[in-house]
Amino acid sequence: TALTDLLNSRIKDVPDYPKPGVMFKDIAPLLADAEAFGALTRALADRARELGATKVVGLEARGFVLAAPAAFAAGLGFVPIRKKGKLPGEVFEQSYDLEYGSATLEVQCDAFAPGERVLVVDDVLATGGTIAASLDLVQRTGAQLVGVVVLMELGFLDGRERLATHLGGAPLETL
Ligand code: 5GP
Repeated sequence: TALTDLLNSRIKDVPDYPKPGVMFKDIAPLLADAEAFGALTRALADRARELGATKVVGLEARGFVLAAPAAFAAGLGFVPIRKKGKLPGEVFEQSYDLEYGSATLEVQCDAFAPGERVLVVDDVLATGGTIAASLDLVQRTGAQLVGVVVLMELGFLDGRERLATHLGGAPLETL
C-alpha cells in the first residue's frame, strides 16, 4: 500500500549495529519526517478506534514515541510498560530472556479500570520476547487485549509464532 511504501522509504538499514552481523532498522528518519510520522500516527489511531480500544499501551522506549501520539489522536489515554524500577507504587513484573541474560518489564497494577480494552504498540517485533512479556503483564492487570500493532516485523526471527500463545485470539498487525 501507499502507507507501507512511505513507511519503508523512511526506515534506514544500519549494518553491524549494535553488533557485527546485525542489520538494525533505524526509525529515526521516519520520526523526523512529518508526513511519514503523521501517517503512521493516524494509522495507529485508526486501528485503536476500529478495535474499540480504551487505552493505548506503549513499550519503553520507542513504543512510547509511537503509542502516545496515537492515543492522543484517537482520543484515548496512554499507559507505559517500563523497564524494571521506573514506575512508582504497586507493579506487576515479568522477566524474559535476552540473547545474553534477561530483562524485566513492569506495569502499574492499577493502570487500567475494570473492563478496559487495550491496544499494545511497539516499533519492532523481533524475537517476540518484549511483546510476549508485555502481553503477560496486560493479562495480569485484568484488562482485555484487543490487539497488537507494530511498525515492522522481522519475519525471519519467528516472533509471530512465539506470540501466538500470548495473544488470546487478539490480532497481531504490522504496518
Ligand atoms: P524482541 O523482544 O522482539 O526480540 O525485540 C523487540 C524490541 O527490540 C523492540 O522493543 C525494539 O524496539 C527493539 N529492536 C530489536 N531490533 C530492532 C531493530 O532492528 N530496530 C529497532 N528500531 N528496534 C529494534
